[in-house]
Formats: sequence, C-alpha cells, structure tokens
Amino acid sequence: MAIKITSVFSMRHLFLLSLAMNISLILRTMYEREHGLNWLCFEAPNGHLSQRTRLSLSSSSTSATTTPIYAQPGGDSIINLARGDPIMFERYWRQMGDKATVVIPGWQYISYFSDVTNICWFLEPEFAKEVVRVHRVVGNAVTEGRHIVVGTGSSQLYLAALFALSPHNASEPISVVSQAPYYSSYPSMTDCLKSGLYKWVGDAQSFNKEGPYIELVTSPNNPDGDVRRSVVNKSEGILVHDLAYYWPQYTPISSPADHEIMLFTVSKSTGHAGMRIGWALVKDQEVARRMTKFIELNTIGVSKDSQLRAAKVLKAVSDSSEDAAGNSEEDESFFEFSYQLMAERWKLLRKAVEHRGSFSLPEFPPAFCTFLNRVSEPQPAFAWMKCEVDIEDCESFLQGHKILTRGGKDFGVSPKYVRISMLDRDDNFNLFVKRLSTIHL
Ligand code: PMP
Repeated sequence: MAIKITSVFSMRHLFLLSLAMNISLILRTMYEREHGLNWLCFEAPNGHLSQRTRLSLSSSSTSATTTPIYAQPGGDSIINLARGDPIMFERYWRQMGDKATVVIPGWQYISYFSDVTNICWFLEPEFAKEVVRVHRVVGNAVTEGRHIVVGTGSSQLYLAALFALSPHNASEPISVVSQAPYYSSYPSMTDCLKSGLYKWVGDAQSFNKEGPYIELVTSPNNPDGDVRRSVVNKSEGILVHDLAYYWPQYTPISSPADHEIMLFTVSKSTGHAGMRIGWALVKDQEVARRMTKFIELNTIGVSKDSQLRAAKVLKAVSDSSEDAAGNSEEDESFFEFSYQLMAERWKLLRKAVEHRGSFSLPEFPPAFCTFLNRVSEPQPAFAWMKCEVDIEDCESFLQGHKILTRGGKDFGVSPKYVRISMLDRDDNFNLFVKRLSTIHL
C-alpha cells in the first residue's frame, strides 16, 4: 500500500500540495481579518449577542475546544468566565476511559415510552435506579416516597414546577420570588412567555404580598455559594428547592435534603451539561403528574439516549465513590477528584485577591461533610467577587482588563459585584488568576 502511494504521489507532488494548502490558509486568514468574518458568536454577559469574535484554540488544550479565549490583536486575549459551563471535569472523564461510554444500536430505544406504569412515563428505569443510588451513596437527598420526574436539564423542570404549582383558575398570576442575589436565569425564564399562570416578582426578602406565592430556594446558592433556607415564611408559600450544587465538591453535605420539590442536574454534579438531563424528586403525586404533563406538552418526554448516558455516568460516579481504591487514575473517586480541583482553584483565586484590597471574596466556615467523612470547605462553583474602593461597575472594570464576568445587576443586587465561573478549563482559569493578580486599583 505504502509503495503504491509513493508511486502515485511523488515527493514533488506532496510538496506542491502542502504549499498550495498553506497559501490558501494564509489568504483565507487575511480575507477573514479584512472582512471581519468569524467562526463563533457568544452571548455577552448582559444577554445581548456580542460582536462576533474569532475563536482561538488554547495551546494546552488536548481537544477541539470552545474554551472562550478569543484572539485579540497584539496577542492579548479575552478571558470569558461569564458563563457557568462546567468543562473542568472533562479531565476526570478522559481518565475514566470507557467506564462511562455508551453504545446504542440503531434499533434500540425508538419508542416514545419508557415505563407506562410510572407517573413519569418517559422516565427510563435504568436512569431512575442510578438517581436513587447516587443519592444513597452521597447522602444528599431523601428518595424514599418520592416521584422522580426527568427533564431536559433542570431548566425544563423549573418551568414544569411553576406550571404544576400555579393555581389554574386564579384571577392573577402567582408571584415567584427568590432571595437576591438569585440565579440570573430565574427572572427571564419565568417571564419569557408572559404566562398568565405565574410572574416573576423579584427579591424574596422584600416580598410582602398576601396570598399564594412560589419561593425558589437555591442551596448552595448561585451566584454567592450561600447555604440557604426560605426567607418569606408566609402560610401560603410553596417552596421549590434548586439543589444543583448540593454535591460534595461544592459544599459539605450535612444531611439528606428532604423537601417537597427538589431539583438536581447532571450539568453541575458530574459536569455533563451537554447531556441536558435533570431530575426532580417530588413528594406530591399530583404535582409530579402535572410536571410530567408539562414536559409531555413541551417535548413529549426526554431523550432516552441522554437518560441512558446519564445512567452510565451516574453509575460510574457511584462506583467510583463506593470502591475508590485510589491505586490508579481509573479508580479515583469522582468527588475526591472534583473536590481537590475546586480546592486548588479557590486557593489560587484567594491568593490572587488577598492583601491587595482591590477585590473581596466571601468567606465560608468549614463544616463536617457526611460523605467525605471529614471537615470540608465550601468551594462554590462561582466566585462572587466585590470590587472594593470606588469602582461602581465591577463587570465593566474587569471587562477593561479583558475579563468577562456577569455583573451583580443580573442577580438583583449592586453592580459592585460580579460572578466568576470557577468551572472553566485549567488554562483559561489559570490565565484569569494570573491577570487578576496584576490588577491594582
Ligand atoms: N439551577 C441553577 C441554580 C443553575 O445554576 C443552573 C445552571 N446554571 C440550572 C438550574 C440549570 O441547569 P441545567 O443545565 O440542568 O438546565
């Protein structure tokens, strides 16, 4: 074969071919630069589509990546930590080899239905089994006596919960509140369709209207990492607990959460945001039925392929937690790995910030973690940083240093704060810490 190729393509041919390819690449680059053409656009922190910018691949990344380091004239780069894309766990999953690989033959899982005896008829039994198992292994939520409703991410389950909990014959939409700073997507998700059933009202702390309301309790909280409880405490309140970050790498597990409606997602627990799988643990049968109805009306169920992949990934997490021998990389416990990774990052960030007086970060008391069986540090998925001194708009200030973050206003508080993702790839995060440490006010 090799001899044949050599006879068809002589060295001269190969040289000419390579020369032609290089020239065309140079010409294309020059053309694109001149005409401002780009490969990717991304959503700016303030929700507007920002100027299209050409993506550069970071040199230390091992794969084609969407790591948002954007090439700038002069070799400087924009570091985008405005989004919470959890790609830092990629390294662990590479290490795991085929432990979380799924192969689905073309003839399999082609029906809409998974288990018609279940309220959530599109819930794959294998996925349900692994959800129950991972909560038992981690000890972070009660699953006994709960209905599991699967969703296309916990985002869909959030909307399903609003639909299920809103009185359908009320004269006005039910108020939806959450303590500020709240997850920046709640207001837009709640009001995007201008529903007649529910309406975003804002900060739970200033809510004083009589009558029914829905309060979202996010714990640990996005953006500030606080461990939270409901704050309104009125008799007609219905609570939805968003526990996306109640996992050992982010916060000490104190006891199994035991609430009426609890939302979880693989996006932040295992880092598989692209799978778009979340689950709700729901006490009340009728609420579970209505949430299921909402998803049926929206998407007629949830991708079986994704549920099966999620089941395999959760199984790998539980297996790694139960029989972590620690002898080889393939045996490493997912939560030990991710806890150490978060610990390293928080250490680096605190070092970059301390003693300068320009910025401040929240302090969290360590606590006993029942899963790790030791005292552990809270180390949130986002850094909630405050610009000290007289900088009023911290997001714009950092943008001036080519660091993209999300400003406090999006979370219902002062623009002196910004939210910074701690979950990006190593190279992007390290570059950020390095740049931050050089900023002096
Ligand atoms: N809730 C919170 C608090 C979040 O931070 C996120 C993700 N940023 C979600 C829900 C949505 O998660 P999913 O990817 O499962 O839709």
